[in-house]
Amino acid sequence: MDTVQFRRYLHSHPELSFAEKATAEFISQQLSEYCIEHRPIAGTGVLARIEGRKGNLKRCVVLRADIDALPMSENTGVEWASQNQDVMHACGHDCHASILFGVLKRMQADRNFEGTLFGLFQPAEERAPGGAMLVMEEDPFKDYDVQAVIGEHVDSELEVGELGFCPGKFMASADELYFTIKGVGGHAAMRSRIKDAVVAAADFIMRLNMLNSDMCVVSVGGVKAEGSTNVIPEEVTLAGTMRTYSENLRTRIKDMIAHIAEEIEYKYDVEIIADPRHGYPCVENDMQLTYEAMLLADSGGFKVRDLDMRPTAEDFGVYSQRYPSLYYRLGVGAESGRAHTSTFLPDERCLEVGEEFMYQLALSILNK
Ligand SMILES: [Zn+2]
Ligand SMILES: [Zn+2]
Repeated sequence: MDTVQFRRYLHSHPELSFAEKATAEFISQQLSEYCIEHRPIAGTGVLARIEGRKGNLKRCVVLRADIDALPMSENTGVEWASQNQDVMHACGHDCHASILFGVLKRMQADRNFEGTLFGLFQPAEERAPGGAMLVMEEDPFKDYDVQAVIGEHVDSELEVGELGFCPGKFMASADELYFTIKGVGGHAAMRSRIKDAVVAAADFIMRLNMLNSDMCVVSVGGVKAEGSTNVIPEEVTLAGTMRTYSENLRTRIKDMIAHIAEEIEYKYDVEIIADPRHGYPCVENDMQLTYEAMLLADSGGFKVRDLDMRPTAEDFGVYSQRYPSLYYRLGVGAESGRAHTSTFLPDERCLEVGEEFMYQLALSILNK
């Protein structure tokens, strides 16, 4: 099966995070057809392994593609649109998986490289706690000297043929913040008898807002106070997000939020119960690896674009916190539409570009 056929098959059979059962079966069957050794990983993922003909087989490169789809219905009108109701490959993960498949096929064809190549078809990028964490819990590369973990994402802000890179810090960590502020409710006119959770919440939000900077986002989008004109409620709940570009800062900001909460508790004589959900860590690209990839792309005739840091998150950060890693963007052009919308349809010409570049990159690292 060629890369385009592979992609169209995946596109018409999308599955949600942690439920990529048929997807994994399809990938496994296709890998078997090309005699590529593989095994299940992280529940619904597939880990392929190809050993080169020479060199130290413990030196390895890991190519990672996510394989999950989103809970939404498709509205692209293509013949090979989703056959699974209310599930759609609207983030381009079908493209990522197909490109990886194409690269593995080429590497398997002559195995004329040094070391070992892993192809990681990872489940559940779209849903916390994310498939990457499950992969790492199995520690599949513990006996290897990992030279690089490489991942990519389609991007309609870049043209087809264009590749986007950001050396160093690239994508933010993302944590969900939940607070319940408990006071003493009562008649809004009788202020001496109440402990005002609404005022405490307002002050708290303003204090959290002051933490925002170029390197950190703290936003509160959910505020619930079910009082009325003359009723102060017992409690107020807040929901928000916290994003940072470094793991150190992530820890520091978490501590600062805890301190602010203590001050607010003292100032208004209320109780604040925090129930944060820890999300994905920051994606930090290895500097040297990124510069080498940019040079390779440039000399290979690809258009190279410098990218700014992105406040969105990606569970690829789990790998980048442990191994030298590179996460880059693959242009699909504005005509493809925007990811996570019902009409998003990446230009298929990206498959050839993505495959060629990832193939060259893997070879250059392995044969170094
Ligand atoms: Zn997505
Ligand atoms: Zn995605």
